[in-house]
Amino acid sequence: MTQYDYIIVGAGIAGCSIAYFLSQHNKNILLLDRNNDFSQTASSAAGGFLSPLLGKPNEFKELVTQALNFSFEFYKKNFPNELINKGVLRIPKNEEDKEKFKSYIPYIDFEYSLKEEGCFFPIGSQVKTLDVCQKMTKNIQTQFNYEVKEIRFDEKYYTINDEYVTAHLILTTGADTTLIGEKYFNIRPVWGQRIVIETSTCIDINYHKECSVSTSVASENNASYTVSIGATHHRFNCDSSVCTQCLKEPNLNNFARVSKDENRVNIDTDILLNRANDIVKLENVKLKEIKIGARASSVDYFPMVGGLIDSKKTLELFPHIKKGTHVQNHRLSQYANLFVINGLGGRGFVLAPYLAHLLCEHIIHHKELPSNITTHRLFKRWAKKL
Ligand SMILES: Cc1cc2nc3c(=O)[nH]c(=O)nc-3n(C[C@H](O)[C@H](O)[C@H](O)COP(=O)(O)OP(=O)(O)OC[C@H]3O[C@@H](n4cnc5c(N)ncnc54)[C@H](O)[C@@H]3O)c2cc1C
Repeated sequence: MTQYDYIIVGAGIAGCSIAYFLSQHNKNILLLDRNNDFSQTASSAAGGFLSPLLGKPNEFKELVTQALNFSFEFYKKNFPNELINKGVLRIPKNEEDKEKFKSYIPYIDFEYSLKEEGCFFPIGSQVKTLDVCQKMTKNIQTQFNYEVKEIRFDEKYYTINDEYVTAHLILTTGADTTLIGEKYFNIRPVWGQRIVIETSTCIDINYHKECSVSTSVASENNASYTVSIGATHHRFNCDSSVCTQCLKEPNLNNFARVSKDENRVNIDTDILLNRANDIVKLENVKLKEIKIGARASSVDYFPMVGGLIDSKKTLELFPHIKKGTHVQNHRLSQYANLFVINGLGGRGFVLAPYLAHLLCEHIIHHKELPSNITTHRLFKRWAKKL
């Protein structure tokens, strides 16, 4: 059996980000994925848009602001060729939204200028999703087409499929939480579609109104442009605790099975084209690509980062936690040296580098993680209801 210091399961943006940060301290890392390349599931569906969150001050907005500042600088410094920084114009959806925008202006955390239609943020960008995952992990050992089916823990080590052994295990498996197997780890798939089109219209900034429209990339002879338009949001009525087949499929390009609606893909394509045309008039449009993926969304929308609480052991130690008795976070029992980054929702490319940096500092230098992103909160919420 081959032995590693760190094994990371899941080569989406979360897995690639933590692999990158850990590799600054340790080279004995293996990154595994069931698919045949990086970022084949949610991370391949993503448009990779980086955009500020507007609103009155609250904890979630503060998290997104810190993450955007960190991740933007991170991509710019380390992967400048994978970051397209042309700014984003945020446009209110309707009159009501216009009023809301006005009330948010005193709380804008980024440089901006007011335009007739909305607010222009120079930080708005798009990340080349596959390229950045590849570059982040170029010095890391990877094994694709590898399904992790069984994890055993013995004394100090995790054994994977009786083949690999590791001292530290990191699960970055997105919406497929089968390996986590803890009931409180309440991650729901929020499915979505993005399309890539060819058009004769040139677009020189990113836009966001009811959907995001990217800057255009010119073809070699400048005859046409490629534009990315995303995304739709759906919670379908399937139970991922019973079946995760669709979550396992790479580059899913048909909603039919999850949505039970044969026409869903076409309907979503029309929705996206209509919304995009409401922002910029797109001429001579040809549909080039359809991307579908499941965002991993936690019940309270915050990510899940850090050690994983062992619910069985914790409840044996503190049975009164079920009645709501307060137990300090550090006393809850965690699986030894097992960590997660999950629940990135619709902002994986904004959140992942920032959260991976925090997790790496936690693992290597024992720095405490902010309590609103750790797994303790959902465990306590779940335990109280038992
Ligand atoms: C349509 C759409 C558009 C989006 N647009 C944006 C955007 O513009 N900007 C943005 O920031 N975010 C966007 N997002 C959100 C973003 O895609 C996600 O937040 C992010 O990709 C999640 O990354 P992840 O690494 O956690 O999960 P994933 O990318 O899903 O990666 C998980 C990996 O784990 C692997 N895996 C799981 N179980 C196993 C196993 N047992 N064995 C081996 N491998 C396993 C899977 O194969 C997969 O590769 C969008 C999402 C969608 C669906």
